[in-house]
Amino acid sequence: MPKIRKILVANRGEIAVRVMRTCKELGISTVAVYSEADRSALHVRTADQAVLVGPPPSRESYLVQERILEAAKQTGADAIHPGYGFLSENASFVRACEKAGITFIGPPASAMDAMGEKTRARQNMIKAGVPVVPGTAEPIATVEEARAYAEKIGVPVMLKAAGGGGGKGMRKVERMEDFESSWRAAKSEAMNAFGNDAVYIEKYLEKPHHVEIQVFADQYGNTIHLNERECSAQRRHQKVVEETPSPILSPELRAKMGEVAVKAAKAVGYVGAGTVEFLVDVHRNFYFLEMNTRLQVEHPVTEWVTGLDLVAWQIKVAEGEKLPYTEAPRPNGHSIEVRIYAEDPARNFMPSPGRINYLRVPGGPYLRDDSGVFPGYTVPNVYDPMISKLSVWAPTRREAIERAKRALGEYVVKGITTNVRYLKGILSHPEFVEGDYDTSFLTREHETLLGKNE
Ligand code: ADP
Repeated sequence: MPKIRKILVANRGEIAVRVMRTCKELGISTVAVYSEADRSALHVRTADQAVLVGPPPSRESYLVQERILEAAKQTGADAIHPGYGFLSENASFVRACEKAGITFIGPPASAMDAMGEKTRARQNMIKAGVPVVPGTAEPIATVEEARAYAEKIGVPVMLKAAGGGGGKGMRKVERMEDFESSWRAAKSEAMNAFGNDAVYIEKYLEKPHHVEIQVFADQYGNTIHLNERECSAQRRHQKVVEETPSPILSPELRAKMGEVAVKAAKAVGYVGAGTVEFLVDVHRNFYFLEMNTRLQVEHPVTEWVTGLDLVAWQIKVAEGEKLPYTEAPRPNGHSIEVRIYAEDPARNFMPSPGRINYLRVPGGPYLRDDSGVFPGYTVPNVYDPMISKLSVWAPTRREAIERAKRALGEYVVKGITTNVRYLKGILSHPEFVEGDYDTSFLTREHETLLGKNE
């Protein structure tokens, strides 16, 4: 297979910049696409070439397949890297790339189809012998049926949009009295957010951990895992802090989960980088939650402990190279990532777009700042408010926490509100330091975490 010479990065913000950095190191030229709101964005400045693809709303720019493909043809790009979000998990886009003779850096459309809808993924995993969160494998047609099922498995249950993602389209039902109104709300929310009102039911697991396994596969069926990431520090079902290794996994559980994740990826003919997400309950039973068929936001922590560049490997796999390992490399040390958002934790995490008047980014040993902003940049109000990811490495978890705290202490962003102090609060909280925090941690400790901000 020929080497890739020019990559169009179909994304914006920190991830577009991060992908372009690796391209540069590999001697591959880069093309940015941008909306009218992103004329002066960092990813546009970082790329060798840039093409305007439409007005600010992503539906009219970053999500318009024809525009992106046109930009690739116009600039002679031979491959497209989708980053995460936008078109990264869109099987029809993968097919359109194929048709246009452009390499899509990611899994085949068939693997995306198999894992795309949560219910389809559950059916495929059940078939493959992978344990899934107890619940229905199909969307439920009527409220009567749904009610009967919830009564059978007992509240609390989670109503979930089959086409959901990004922490949206999920509703916990604690009392049967509320079932019907929650059902209706979940359906209309699903329709509005995803254009698909199919909803199914999962048992709501109490105080689970979100632990996910990074998998990697080449085009020849070699599939490995690169260990786990602990992602239980969440607000509104979205990750805020991630780390590896997970402080709660025994070597046996790690090996078992890794094996199951590889089995899941093989079952759908996976190629490239992917993540198999699991919930781990209080008894340390684990259940398949979903698979993300793309690069994950939190991939840097895996890069820190494996020494690999996952984007470089995505590109090499797309070029037809074989994986260099037959099993998981032994993780070295500990890594923590915190997501820096332009938002106000004290005001219900309301986004805080605006102009960054002053920016000081931390430095020092074993530290990485994957940022999409610069001093004088105006954070637009139309996109995700994450502005940067700070990640650190240290030989031990204790030292990694201290390093992350020290780095956050150096982080100064003026002009907009950020969650930097809130993040420091998380890293200093005894429950986090102790290492056994579940997905209820941030919500449960919200007031305390805000108090630490003062
Ligand atoms: P999305 O695709 O929107 O990210 P996920 O299915 O990956 O949704 O779930 C996101 C988070 O929501 C999980 O990490 C977990 O914290 C919570 N969650 C999802 N399903 C359940 C469940 N059945 N029980 C308890 N918590 C859940």
